[in-house]
Amino acid sequence: MEKNIIDYEQTKEKLQDIVKKGTINKEKNLAITKYGLPIEHFTVGKGEKDVVITGATHGSEIITTDFVIKLMEDINPKNNVWSDILKEFKIHFIPILNPEGYLISTSAIRQLIPRQMEQEEVQKICKQYYLAYREDDVNPKTVKRFQKMFENIDYTCIPEKYHDLRESVKNIFEKYPDLPKGCLQMWSSNGNGVDIQANSKYNPQIDKIMANKKIYMKSKRFDNIDISHPGPINCPFDREQGFKTEIETKAITELLEELNEKDKLFLYLNYHSTGGMIYQRPSIPPEELHISDEEQEKNEKINYMLSQAYASRTYKNKSKDEFGMDNRNKTRYLVQTGQMAATCTNDIFRIKYPQDLLIELSAMGGNPIAPYGDLEGNYTNTIKSNLDATKFTLHIGSLLKRMCEEFYNKVHKLEGHNDYELMMWFEQRIFDEFYNKIMNFLGIKDEFGENEEKKKRKCDQPR
Ligand SMILES: [Zn+2]
Repeated sequence: MEKNIIDYEQTKEKLQDIVKKGTINKEKNLAITKYGLPIEHFTVGKGEKDVVITGATHGSEIITTDFVIKLMEDINPKNNVWSDILKEFKIHFIPILNPEGYLISTSAIRQLIPRQMEQEEVQKICKQYYLAYREDDVNPKTVKRFQKMFENIDYTCIPEKYHDLRESVKNIFEKYPDLPKGCLQMWSSNGNGVDIQANSKYNPQIDKIMANKKIYMKSKRFDNIDISHPGPINCPFDREQGFKTEIETKAITELLEELNEKDKLFLYLNYHSTGGMIYQRPSIPPEELHISDEEQEKNEKINYMLSQAYASRTYKNKSKDEFGMDNRNKTRYLVQTGQMAATCTNDIFRIKYPQDLLIELSAMGGNPIAPYGDLEGNYTNTIKSNLDATKFTLHIGSLLKRMCEEFYNKVHKLEGHNDYELMMWFEQRIFDEFYNKIMNFLGIKDEFGENEEKKKRKCDQPR
């Protein structure tokens, strides 16, 4: 498995090579960004239902693009599982939803990690970044250690070829001198300094920003960043221009909207970078969206089941426990079940459209390079287990959805049995049962004794 960090130009070359092989088609670009970069769009499969997969909504989350490209490379119509999936679905890949952010971030990385650097040396720098990041979380300083590693890198790292983008970044730093040094590598935003995920009209920060309030990020590692003006992370819009939907936000919204209108959208897999967890629960919808309780409940159930299917194939840790047993089972991705008001772009997608999982890939945190700080462990586990999990989820997705709908229709009629915790517990039992049956039915060999583990699991109390 190739493990090096790939910069913007390299992603373009890789994608061209993939298309040359003939399985995956290049479609018309979803859009061209403000500073002239294409948002590339690829498809594969002849199915009636559509699946959308995106990487790098946050530009600095480079492992997401790395993963989506590896997923595209993995597709082989001669493989039985892929052949089933491609008959059922048409898959849309947007490996870099935010190319400006990706270009800014990887241009900064290249100053510290040139292409030809030895793997071992790359890993060492990434590990150092990871440790600095962790230290900044527990032992705060005004100058962040992880930013200090990149303190000598400024807008000139962006190749002159991308003149307009380079100028925009330069202007942002001139206009907002409070922006810390050493934050180009963590540039999640686009070239306007606006974060696509935060760029939602339901973002509660909008009013505060319009009232000229400064808003510093809460986490210790980022608390030197004011998100009320354009910058690397979390700024929802440029105050001077008033709220405006960015080109990238519009591009993904239009694709989902178009597929949904044709009643073809089956699933959106939105990849983010760090946490080793899955967000799946529809948030509380803004009133003006008029989402019925029934619709919301049904969505909740299907999303939950799909995320369980996905999580069941993931692992963060590959090491053996003290008895020499494979302990991957114990390090599955966490399925988040908390519910809050819908504020960000993806919250709204999940409310308006069918199935939507937001997957935080790497257990090791620290964008962009920390996930590469342990190549044999963290990096390989992340890529391998997520390739497997994506394939598995697509393979059984429709069956699972049908089962959920049946379940919902039956349970929905039982008056007085709508206690949320109890239902979740019930669903988990059904999922476990389903999982065992489907694994046997599909003849999927469970490489880490999943079924045994499930049997042993305590299942006597609702969570
Ligand atoms: Zn993200």
